[in-house]
Amino acid sequence: MTPQIHLRKGKEESLLRRHPWIFSGAVDYIAAEDESEIREGAVVDVYTHSGDFIARGHYQIGSIAVRVLTFRDEPIEAAWWERRIAAAWDVRRTLGLSDDGDTTCFRLVHGEGDSLPGLVIDLYGRTAVVQCHSAGMYRARLDVAAALHAVLGDRLEAVYDKSSQTVPFNARLGAVDGYLRGASEHKTHTVREHGLQFLVNWEEGQKTGFFLDQRENRELVRRYAAGRTVLNTFCYTGGFSVYALAGGAREVCSVDSSERAVRLAGENVRLNFGDAAPHTALAADAVEYLKDIGDRYDLIILDPPAFAKHHKVLGNAVQGYKRLNARALSQIKSGGILFTFSCSQAVSKELFRTTVFSAAAIAGRKVRILHQLTQPADHPIDIYHPEGEYLKGLVLYVE
Ligand code: SAH
Repeated sequence: MTPQIHLRKGKEESLLRRHPWIFSGAVDYIAAEDESEIREGAVVDVYTHSGDFIARGHYQIGSIAVRVLTFRDEPIEAAWWERRIAAAWDVRRTLGLSDDGDTTCFRLVHGEGDSLPGLVIDLYGRTAVVQCHSAGMYRARLDVAAALHAVLGDRLEAVYDKSSQTVPFNARLGAVDGYLRGASEHKTHTVREHGLQFLVNWEEGQKTGFFLDQRENRELVRRYAAGRTVLNTFCYTGGFSVYALAGGAREVCSVDSSERAVRLAGENVRLNFGDAAPHTALAADAVEYLKDIGDRYDLIILDPPAFAKHHKVLGNAVQGYKRLNARALSQIKSGGILFTFSCSQAVSKELFRTTVFSAAAIAGRKVRILHQLTQPADHPIDIYHPEGEYLKGLVLYVE
């Protein structure tokens, strides 16, 4: 028997509005024939207080008890996985994304945004990199790989599972990264993004190997870069730097605390522009580096990692963003442009804007908002799950 989650009275309301999470506080009791069926990652059926079936999803111990897979009474079987992956693939085709265009790397499945909570799949050419964020998705990873194969056919050469760092630690799943299908002899692969080339190593890189979510914002940097002296902080493998150089920047300096990232930023610049490109890369703490930059730079990019991983540390995170932005805003050359981002889900668009407003006030500069940025369309947001909008950015003109 599929274990049954029975909700407290009235707790079905958010589900009626198609929100895909059930918090542990909403659960009245769990019924199963055998205790062992209620293991983390199991598929469970959810019932309202009055006993009506309302959803089916993955169970997990923690604040989110169930991630909803479907609001219909349908089996979660091979055909179901294929339908969901096919729907996600259709969206990417609508966006003009495929493995043979100007952009060969993109997100194929964005969790809740593609009605697959807890699952991320990024495509790099003909390899899919799967990252499971829930025990349920991790247990289903072979079904996911099979569905990918069924939908993409020959387009797909390999499926790499990179979940060891993202599955819930307490579930003790013993996750080990590795290929689920096919394999590659090489660790480093070359992909294209808007016609520019990047080296990606999904086995050793951060996230799935590349920050695909900044693609359109990087393109905007290209538009503003001509003749500018650019500082790209938290540069990772130099995504923004390569675009700035492509846009005709006079000079670009890339800063990241990771030695490996800085080395790769240099390699990506060389791959696109050879040895003579006006680029320097520095391994340093970006916040420290920003203490004393004078007015050298007239285009600065701030793309820090999520300062607030959860709501409890929101206050510190806001202080961190404020300090960082105040440093950049107070020193940037007159007529300069600041690209500033937050990828913390816990920091809302409004809070981020207020924080940057405070930073501008501290810096005492005249600041205009030119653009309000977000994540690209291959990271879609389920309209019933606004939490899915995590990336926020502002492009500021500083007088
Ligand atoms: N802008 C990048 C992605 C940034 S991810 C892109 O477009 O690809 C955040 C980066 O910040 C990571 O590479 C991480 O190594 C780096 N980082 C984290 N803390 C840092 C710090 N205090 N100073 C500098 N870099 C830091």
